[in-house]
Amino acid sequence: MTRQPPLVERVGARAYRVPTPGPEADGTLAWDATTIVVVRADAGEVSGLGWTYADEACVPLIEGKLAEVVRGRPLCDVPAAWTAMQRAIRNLGRAGLVSCALSAVDVALWDAAARWLDLPVSRLLGRVHESVDVYGSGGFTTLSEGELAAQLDHWVRRQRLPRVKIKIGESWGTRVERDLERVRLTRDKVGDDVEVFVDANGAYSAGQARRVAERLLEWGVTWFEEPVSSDDLAGLAGARFPGGPDIAAGEYGYDLPAFARLLPVVDCLQVDVTRCGGFTEWRRAAALAAAAGRDVSAHCAPNLSAHAAVATPNFRHIEWFADHDRIERRFFDGCLDPAGGTVTPSLAQPGHGLTFRAGAAAEYAL
Ligand SMILES: [Mg+2]
Repeated sequence: MTRQPPLVERVGARAYRVPTPGPEADGTLAWDATTIVVVRADAGEVSGLGWTYADEACVPLIEGKLAEVVRGRPLCDVPAAWTAMQRAIRNLGRAGLVSCALSAVDVALWDAAARWLDLPVSRLLGRVHESVDVYGSGGFTTLSEGELAAQLDHWVRRQRLPRVKIKIGESWGTRVERDLERVRLTRDKVGDDVEVFVDANGAYSAGQARRVAERLLEWGVTWFEEPVSSDDLAGLAGARFPGGPDIAAGEYGYDLPAFARLLPVVDCLQVDVTRCGGFTEWRRAAALAAAAGRDVSAHCAPNLSAHAAVATPNFRHIEWFADHDRIERRFFDGCLDPAGGTVTPSLAQPGHGLTFRAGAAAEYAL
């Protein structure tokens, strides 16, 4: 006789706003704080933890409509709960906040199910890799030369990361010479053995993006993320050329059709487990990418991404994003250490191995 899983009894959420150390900006957005919505799902004697980096408006949606359709379901049938949520939100629209809320619940359910089974999430999903690569990500356009140099130094000398990414496309692509100067400074600072990536967050026009892509070759840049808006499929295609940097996009992929549209015009598909629909939808997005012969790279939420990453055959690397790294180390026990440029999710801890430090988070509660 097999054990029968408990039923999901309760799904709760809380939002926290964490100020950044200083003003931060990329090519198309400036911010001074990051909001994280933390979800807890209870079933029998276990509870699971999920989160998404989104607006506090997710909280009533999670505790209302999503909790309503998830409650009473067998804990381990996470794709059934996911499908019920997806159907229930039809008239709200899947993309954006709704998908972020759904993702956080999905992650909490996988964590709870894995804890009940006494397995790591990565083992429940099924591991392909023991470890996966990461890259240091930050390099905001608001940083002074000295601050950028210090961040690069931290990643490359102290953490020994062999890949780094900086933001370009400053002020909607109006500071191209400063962008290129910062790329030059980055190459000078990290040396020839470290891969240099750039992210324009959709700041350039199509022609501008192609011209910048050609100039990036001078400093051996191998990754050009969102050279134009991810909605501009022709612009993404136009930034790709033989011998040029890989073109990447996908961080605003909230459903499978969005990933399917992007795949023909990117070299590597980015997927965010806290936006795309959680671990459940990550697996399907990765399968789509595999069918197109593309790798997947994890966008942000590094400590959750690691579990999906080691279970994805066509996986390239995790974005170890400075803002999220700082928040996750403050809010959760059990965070992974990216030193050396790879992470290995623990096989000794059940679930995703992270526990919420409610006391440390309390001062940021909204
Ligand atoms: Mg990006």
